[in-house]
Amino acid sequence: MPSIIPIPAFRDNYIWLIREGRNAAVVDAGDAAPVIAHLEREGLDLRAILCTHHHNDHVGGNRALLARWNVPVFGPKHEMIPGCTQALAEGDEIVVPGVGLALSVLDIPGHTAGHIAFVGDGLVFCGDTLFAVGCGRLFEGTPAQMTRSLGKLASLPDATRAYCAHEYTLSNIRFAEAVEPGNARLRERKAREAARRERGEPTVPTTIGEERATNPFLRCAEPEVIASAERHAGRKLASPVEVFAEIREWKNHF
Ligand SMILES: [Zn+2]
Repeated sequence: MPSIIPIPAFRDNYIWLIREGRNAAVVDAGDAAPVIAHLEREGLDLRAILCTHHHNDHVGGNRALLARWNVPVFGPKHEMIPGCTQALAEGDEIVVPGVGLALSVLDIPGHTAGHIAFVGDGLVFCGDTLFAVGCGRLFEGTPAQMTRSLGKLASLPDATRAYCAHEYTLSNIRFAEAVEPGNARLRERKAREAARRERGEPTVPTTIGEERATNPFLRCAEPEVIASAERHAGRKLASPVEVFAEIREWKNHF
């Protein structure tokens, strides 16, 4: 089974490196420099680039990596991805060259219009759609789309490891506490994640089960989340999509 290693980039991005022996693939290579440094230090051969969506902090390193390693680039069919050779949409299945990881593709629009996830072998690369205790902003999609996309991720088995693309967990927890002050699992998680950050460790991957228990954006049918969203909105909210829309907007200004 390949190992999955975070390569920190920019201020709070993680580029995920999939390693099997001397072969590697990267997911969301927003910056080539730290990837090249890691590959050279470890003596690895890059065999593939995977992209979840078109934002520059996820694909900005593609060209520089391709200049050194002529490898396939797997990306969403409905977005412009630099160097893309394999355009993917829901239902497509791939085996990542060199590392032997079999992954299937989910369409998860909302953060961007064509955002995809790669799912398989007990893990999901979810880009900027699901974060630990949070979710991506709606740059190109609607609350209904994002609710459906998060629902697809939430329906994966509880033990599924979710490899998010940013380290936002502690600030996400501060918001989640405002929405669900009565959530004991959230309180317990806050202490655990703060300790990890103090040791300089990433708080991701998270698991789908952990997110279902503590991520307010996956809990829009929970009474306390509904009550907080309605208090913030100053009116009754008719559906989980309306609750989601309210707390997403709330967090934008939190
Ligand atoms: Zn993004």
